[in-house]
Amino acid sequence: MDYLPIFLKLTDEPCLVVGGGETAQRKIDLLLRARAQITVVAPDITNHIHTLVKRGRIDYIRDQFYDEYLDKTRIVIIATNNIDTNKRVAAAARKLRLPINVVDQPALCDFIIPSIVDRSPVIVAVGTGGTSPVLARILRAKLETIIPASYGQLAILARDFRAKVRSKLPTTQQRRAFWEQVFQGPIAEMMFSGKENKARHLLNKLLNSADPHSFKQGEVYLVGAGPGDPDLLTFRALRLMQQADVVLYDRLVSDGVLDLVRREADRIYVGKKRAQHEVPQNKINQLLVDLAKSGKRVLRLKGGDPFIFGRGSEEIEDLFHNGIPFQVIPGITAASGCASYAGIPLTHRDFAQSCVFVTGHLQSENLELNWKQLCQPSQTVVVYMSLTGLDTICKQMINHGSPAHLPAALIQQGTTSDQRVVCGTLNTLPGLVSKLKIKPPTLLIIGEVVQLHSMLNWFQPGQSELGTLQLGNTG
Ligand code: SAH
Repeated sequence: MDYLPIFLKLTDEPCLVVGGGETAQRKIDLLLRARAQITVVAPDITNHIHTLVKRGRIDYIRDQFYDEYLDKTRIVIIATNNIDTNKRVAAAARKLRLPINVVDQPALCDFIIPSIVDRSPVIVAVGTGGTSPVLARILRAKLETIIPASYGQLAILARDFRAKVRSKLPTTQQRRAFWEQVFQGPIAEMMFSGKENKARHLLNKLLNSADPHSFKQGEVYLVGAGPGDPDLLTFRALRLMQQADVVLYDRLVSDGVLDLVRREADRIYVGKKRAQHEVPQNKINQLLVDLAKSGKRVLRLKGGDPFIFGRGSEEIEDLFHNGIPFQVIPGITAASGCASYAGIPLTHRDFAQSCVFVTGHLQSENLELNWKQLCQPSQTVVVYMSLTGLDTICKQMINHGSPAHLPAALIQQGTTSDQRVVCGTLNTLPGLVSKLKIKPPTLLIIGEVVQLHSMLNWFQPGQSELGTLQLGNTG
């Protein structure tokens, strides 16, 4: 190990920054976050630094560097654009045994400023020993995605309860087990979703229970898995998927998404094909309650968004009645996913001022839709579960006043490598589709906006693979 990572307290400590350009500016911003008392020495400074000076946040000496400026400082950051100046300042500081950082010149540095993920008071620092700041930044970006924004709040909660936990649980081992339970269970999740009072209440309850380790509180995460492409998951969805003990998923959840669920989690397929639900809805609801009651972290993974034609609310009503904590994580709904990946904007200043989502699911062989409302001009209509009813839908819209030449598109397995877009009109689409072997799920989009597909159609799965291959060959 070439460098020992340490966290230095610089609150109100004098720090000297030599140089006034953009690199100096970045370091100044960082030192400000650490509440250091900063003095900048430079003949010239950026507008941003100038503003900080004007607002009294930092001191500025408009001058060349002289050794005397090192007199009172605790650390020195050297960031001029002149290598000789940098060397000269570093030599002077070294004589005084001051810790030195010279931006972009690791050979002259005593310390390196890492890339950081700031969830104060929790801070994660990534360093590459000065070899590659870009690599550190990429790694940092990955960490940013897996550490919830309110992780620091969790640390503050732990601090507040530390003394109480210590008096209640005398051994280190007991305390470690206790905190692991807190940080990986519903208490942490309550903090992350902004329910601090509830979290504190539950923590107290856990601590006051006769045996904190036998106290089991499960929870349910109702997570939107999006339309297929795993890259479209939210950070929160991914995090919860990776901490679940058991997952209940249905047919619409893509394999790519399912692969991201924690490997050790039990997987329960609950089906949901049209008209033949593998596990009846009330059984799914009950299963969620039972699993959570047994202390499990239960992931209910649903295609698209759980609150759009997903019966998500029905599933959690029972949880509410049973006092089981739950969270609902939105997903990209098929309409958004398919529209974007097919290059069909759902609204457009010239073509559509509104957009409606309806389901084309046949209720007892009849499609009971408000046809008049659907036939409004300047509107995009998105029909979920539309394949069986496609013919009826197109006919009814024409019968109720929509022009027969109104553009319409059927999107098969949107956002996946099997995406296919069939474009036509209300008149021609059913015929076109009947000639093709279309695989579910499919989404129907009707409206003038569909004509933009020919121009905005950026996602062409077959071809993009070829593109990657060619890139690989040339690289
Ligand atoms: N909650 C889901 C919708 C569930 S209803 C969501 O928000 O997307 C199921 C219907 O969604 C399917 O019949 C189909 O119309 C649509 N759908 C879901 N994923 C799709 C995809 N990848 N491509 C096309 N349609 C999709």
